[in-house]
Amino acid sequence: MTPPAASRPPQAEGRPDDAQPDPLVDRMLAGDRRALGRLITRVENREPGVPDLMRRIHARTGRAYTVGITGPPGAGKSTLVDRLTAAIRKTGATVGVVAVDPTSPFTGGAVLGDRIRMQAHTLDAGVFIRSMATRGSLGGLARATAETQKLLDAAGFDWVLVETVGVGQTELDVVKLADTTVVVLVPESGDGIQTMKAGLLEAADILVVNKADREGASRLLTELKYMVHLHREGQQASRDLDWEVPILSAEAVHDVGVAELLESIGRHRAALESSGVLERRRQTRRTRELRALIVTELRQEVDRALADGGALERVLTDVEAGRIDPHTAIRTIAKRLRLGPAATD
Ligand code: GDP
Repeated sequence: MTPPAASRPPQAEGRPDDAQPDPLVDRMLAGDRRALGRLITRVENREPGVPDLMRRIHARTGRAYTVGITGPPGAGKSTLVDRLTAAIRKTGATVGVVAVDPTSPFTGGAVLGDRIRMQAHTLDAGVFIRSMATRGSLGGLARATAETQKLLDAAGFDWVLVETVGVGQTELDVVKLADTTVVVLVPESGDGIQTMKAGLLEAADILVVNKADREGASRLLTELKYMVHLHREGQQASRDLDWEVPILSAEAVHDVGVAELLESIGRHRAALESSGVLERRRQTRRTRELRALIVTELRQEVDRALADGGALERVLTDVEAGRIDPHTAIRTIAKRLRLGPAATD
């Protein structure tokens, strides 16, 4: 029950009480990696305190530069991320990695994956790696990834690498988190056309043909150059940044092409920053996040109201039986929930 107003400390509207410290958050902000890991688990499990957690860290976010790395399974993304992490570390910057695999249900495989990945960087406090797999809805996974990115940012990592299996809506949602998106393709799966179909070409700021040691690599490179050229012609008017998508070749497993990739990412970042597009895109991302939250929260509220067996249940049965039309029903529901113009009728 809500305590009487007089006994509550004054607070700004919409701003929850800050009096309760959260020691885990303080430890995370002070650089404690175990605290960071536990907070990511909270986010993954969708614990009730997540909105409060996000509010607490908000002021510490916005510093990290986020790179999304996506492509088909087996393209060499993990290998590339591992090598890219090492290359970034050589510059002295720190790296947080979130590896998302929406194709594998959570079986503990992600944890094993973490261990394997971690080996190369175990002793390096400047690297933090976390894998996430599907638990529940894919939409939930995209949200948990976005929140984990913020945690890594708040924890002070200079770079956040988000690695995800392409291609589907969730992966594209994950891609939207990134400041720079790298799409990794390989010769053997004839990825050129698939890329086009999946809308990945549109999402790519940099294309990498990995496994350049394999047959067909140069054909794929040529094919992609042609596609990017065509695509660029078609998009001339709607582009907000003058950027020609580089098509790089790499052999991640042999550490070939990794320095060039980092250099391209750096150029893309510089182009975004100097043109002001980085900030504009981040603004769009923030409002998009708000809109998504509004929809999620409202839907939950409506679902709760419809499920509680109260007056709204009759509206449902009336719609079901065809006694009233859905437009009349929605006005009744909105009125009951005090939403929209119907609320003031
Ligand atoms: P992911 O599923 O996209 O993360 O791919 P992985 O990084 O797990 O790589 C899949 C397999 O491809 C592994 O056996 C890697 O060693 C191998 N691999 C990665 N890069 C290359 C490369 O440049 N050339 C060749 N031949 N194999 C590679």
